[in-house]
Amino acid sequence: MIKGKSVIVTGSTSGIGQAIATAFASAGCHVMLNGFGDPAGIESFRAGLEKDHGVQVLYSAADMSRADEIEAMVKDAETAFGRVDILVNNAGIQYVAPVDEFPTEKWDAIISINLSSAFHTIHSVLPGMKKRGWGRIINIASAHGLVASPFKSAYVAAKHGVIGLTKVVALEVAEQGITCNAICPGYVKTPLVEGQINDQAKVHDMSHDEVIRNIILAAQPTKKFVTFEELNALALFLADEHAASINGAAISIDGGWTAK
Ligand code: NAD
Repeated sequence: MIKGKSVIVTGSTSGIGQAIATAFASAGCHVMLNGFGDPAGIESFRAGLEKDHGVQVLYSAADMSRADEIEAMVKDAETAFGRVDILVNNAGIQYVAPVDEFPTEKWDAIISINLSSAFHTIHSVLPGMKKRGWGRIINIASAHGLVASPFKSAYVAAKHGVIGLTKVVALEVAEQGITCNAICPGYVKTPLVEGQINDQAKVHDMSHDEVIRNIILAAQPTKKFVTFEELNALALFLADEHAASINGAAISIDGGWTAK
């Protein structure tokens, strides 16, 4: 039973993080939201979760590229909820270019938001989890944490790094009632992927649907996007007592992409 636990979901103002935050709230958890976006839209999402599910929902605008802001977000959650039981590292960005044309500032931003932020959040939540002898850390990696695609050097490097970090943390906390796992989704239809579809449509002079069929879902044997419902169910299960022996795993949810 995870009812009454408290959760931080980074990057939860959009896409996968927003869906996972909603799933935890509907399971009766108190939630710290995080991410960028229109303040009125974020406030309406936050207040809606509280009203619909009778839980406490807070929002932190912490920038996941800033260690000091990450630490402050964790402190705020611990103060408000009394503890952080579950951490979902989800915030992420993408940029696509050949390595020799890849802008250094984009490399730095992707490494800090997609990888280093997970170090900083874990670094901040672990002392409390260790003290209480219970915790769940769920890192949203990617199929690109297991295999590569061209033009995504920073993203692929960061996601492989997230899986490495997941394994190290899992080993360090294994005897303390804490687990750390990575979820590795294939393509999910979120604003992050919509951006890639639009870019590819321009580059290849294809329609939106042609890009989805011939480029994006070409990697995914099911030829279907992974759904929010499927990801939510996996995240909730990893937070459950029955997942206590799943530790240090990189769990694919990609329609068979990485089986190839
Ligand atoms: P999205 O663009 O819909 O959402 C990203 C979230 O991260 C937003 O809430 C955004 O505000 C937040 N964010 C970005 N930069 C931030 C920063 N500096 N500080 C705080 N928050 C920040 O993307 P998504 O597709 O939902 O992706 C979520 C995660 O899932 C990412 O880590 C992504 O790599 C991973 N993922 C996505 C897919 C996919 O197909 N969509 C597949 C595999 C893995």
